[in-house]
Amino acid sequence: VDEAFTRIHEVDGDVQAFLTLNEEAARSEAKALDENGTADNEILSGMPIGLKDNMVTKGLKTTCSSHILENYDPLYNATVVEKVNAQKAITIGKLNMDEFAMGSSTETSFFAKTKNPWDLQRVPGGSSGGSAAAVAAGEVLFALGTDTGGSIRQPSAFCGVVGMKPTYGRVSRYGLVAFASSLDQAGPITRTVEDNAYLLETIAGLDRHDSTSADVAVPHYAAALTGDIKGLRVAVPKEYLGEGIDESVKANIRAAIKQLESLGAVVDEVSLPHSKYAVPAYYIIASSEASANLARFDGVRYGVRAETNDLIEMYKKSRSEGFGDEVKRRIMLGTFALSSGYYDAYYKKAQQVRTLIKQDFEKVFKDHDIIVGPTTPTTAFKIGENIDDPLTMYANDLLTIPVNLAGIPAISLPCGLANGLPVGLQMIGRPFGEETLYRAAHAYEQ
Ligand code: GLN
Repeated sequence: VDEAFTRIHEVDGDVQAFLTLNEEAARSEAKALDENGTADNEILSGMPIGLKDNMVTKGLKTTCSSHILENYDPLYNATVVEKVNAQKAITIGKLNMDEFAMGSSTETSFFAKTKNPWDLQRVPGGSSGGSAAAVAAGEVLFALGTDTGGSIRQPSAFCGVVGMKPTYGRVSRYGLVAFASSLDQAGPITRTVEDNAYLLETIAGLDRHDSTSADVAVPHYAAALTGDIKGLRVAVPKEYLGEGIDESVKANIRAAIKQLESLGAVVDEVSLPHSKYAVPAYYIIASSEASANLARFDGVRYGVRAETNDLIEMYKKSRSEGFGDEVKRRIMLGTFALSSGYYDAYYKKAQQVRTLIKQDFEKVFKDHDIIVGPTTPTTAFKIGENIDDPLTMYANDLLTIPVNLAGIPAISLPCGLANGLPVGLQMIGRPFGEETLYRAAHAYEQ
């Protein structure tokens, strides 16, 4: 914990990964552990962890990087927070993100622009950019992020760390500020696959506070790290090495696939024909759900309240002043897509496309164990490069979003550098197939 704060005070002025530090409480928790010892089954005892600022933390400000929640001081802990506390991990602070997790660069944060530790001119990715940057910069060993449409995997790829988006339902969403409830899932960001396995084991499991959390036993994931992937059936979708993907990224991925083959994996080319419709379908579904979820921020129950005596005026002003441009864009898109005249043309159609995307994956998983490809079409882009061009920004999520729509797990892990910047290798698994992903990722990492 000492080392974490020393490092943070040294580098976070430049990196700007943290929004809030929990220094006093963290130090006294660490001291108590030193004095009282720890039980053998507390697997994260004393480990410094950073939490994305959309996870509610009792008595520790939770802003979602939004002006509207600038002073929100939650009364309870998210289930994932309770679970890391129960293992005696020590919360170092809250990490920057895109406002309400909407974005792919952490530039939509109201408070700060987090920098990529590999090149301070570049974005760390998003929306869990603070989480990935803090791990990459050596500020914390463990971080939690959330992934609605790539937000754990894309920043992990850009920052050269390991990020897992678990199966929908694997981890409780209780106490995560909801963005798109049918897609949101929390997961671990770490330096190594082994650390990642331990952190997922800590946070996973059924929770009576979240009716979508799954009643499926949580494996001891670290036991899957045998190094043996002989006979593993690996599918490479041709769309994932096709148009729109940088040549330098493709070269690293091809080399990684060769390495998996040399470890005994059997590699096949396959097709995910509907993946090209994933980005448009996602932005309709995610925005629709967001427009409903964000209705609660009205200046009454939470957050910033505009000064006026008229009720309707107060709602309007609080929301106009409290939300940033990207959040407003999503609310308007979502409200439009759900409106009675357009519902069938947009929302319903997007849900149908979602089913087709899910079926594409089911077909491939009939005779393959994992799917492999890049996490992102490019390496980290420059700060400011895409922020005024939402469509280019959205297109960045091309390879991550199909996984969220299908509800399946995927991990991103470092796969060398291209022009001095990290490339992310993505491995996609069957529902609740996180063990296989960890086994394959660990074998590759060795
Ligand atoms: N880029 C995606 C979006 O802006 C990322 C969302 C996420 O996973 N939180 O919607």
